[in-house]
Amino acid sequence: MTETFRAIRLTKQDKSVACELANLTEADLMEGDVTVSVEYSTVNYKDGLAITGKAPIARVSPLIPGIDFAGTVESSTNAKFKKGDRVILNGYGVGEGHHGGYAQKARLPGEWLVKSPETISAEHAMAIGTAGYTAMLCVMALEKGGVTTNSGDVLVTGAAGGVGSVAIALLSKLGYRVLASTGRAEEAPYLKSLGAAEIIDRKELSEPGRPLGKERWAGVVDAVGSHTLVNAIAQTKYDGVVAACGLAQGMDLPGSVAPFILRGVTLHGIDSVMAPMARREEAWSRLARDLDMNKLDAMTSRAGLKDVLTLAEDVIAGKIRGRVIVDVNA
Ligand code: NDP
Repeated sequence: MTETFRAIRLTKQDKSVACELANLTEADLMEGDVTVSVEYSTVNYKDGLAITGKAPIARVSPLIPGIDFAGTVESSTNAKFKKGDRVILNGYGVGEGHHGGYAQKARLPGEWLVKSPETISAEHAMAIGTAGYTAMLCVMALEKGGVTTNSGDVLVTGAAGGVGSVAIALLSKLGYRVLASTGRAEEAPYLKSLGAAEIIDRKELSEPGRPLGKERWAGVVDAVGSHTLVNAIAQTKYDGVVAACGLAQGMDLPGSVAPFILRGVTLHGIDSVMAPMARREEAWSRLARDLDMNKLDAMTSRAGLKDVLTLAEDVIAGKIRGRVIVDVNA
């Protein structure tokens, strides 16, 4: 009898998408030289967009969504990987144009896989997930731009979300004083437990503002975009760095060049999907060193494959706190 595995299958409809839990076989998988027994995936904002059909993330149909996963190599003809290796996948169009992590099995080109750092379990790798790995890329961008703990405070927007929560935990462990901008005042104790020194009401930043404001922070990790990003840039100190990775408020950038030409502010774009392998490996080894796993546990909740459809709605509605891991075998 042909062996089956469970997966979420997304099918594009006329103007929407339909998702169901299905039993698939290896013949349903796409091309690749490594087959992975998936243990955990997660619910990222982009997964929410794909599953709800709110943005055209799915480029093929049918598609197994899920932009990241962690698991163990089952078989490989790629010289870099052998059976039993623990691996992590983020991006490269997986869960968009190539079958993704919401399945018990995945097959893909080995060039897309990162070997898991020894001290990070599959569960922790996905508690970090693409959101946490992106938070690390943002922190690395601030460091590269010369922002140190002596430069001034660092603002994190979308603070109670996945990128925001991991960014706060990382920055506070590295010794930065972190200001957390959130629309959920009730999450203040949670954000402080992750290491935020001060909480800012996101309304302060989300409306149209002045081209230049008082210099308040030396660095920014922005997961929100739109007016929030523009206001964050306008209140960045001389020579400060803003790492822009998200669009939770909007994709627009309705601002002025004043902070760039009068204060030398740097706007550093962050892309996790096609980031070069060396940068990914650096980010994962930094996460192993610089992320407090107790704080990671405190921001993580668990779910099974069947819960993904509801969680997709929740992540788009901004209702999820921190990170959600999906145990694909539960
Ligand atoms: P989450 O949904 O977990 O977090 C987003 C947070 O943004 C929410 O929790 C909320 O935080 C805030 N937010 C939501 N809606 C609004 C709004 N209308 N105005 C202002 N703030 C809002 O998502 P993730 O953390 O996983 O991802 C954050 C962003 O980063 C997304 O846009 C995602 O697409 C992007 N991203 C980009 C990557 C890249 O490679 N560039 C990789 C990973 C993510 P609060 O309740 O605290 O206000």
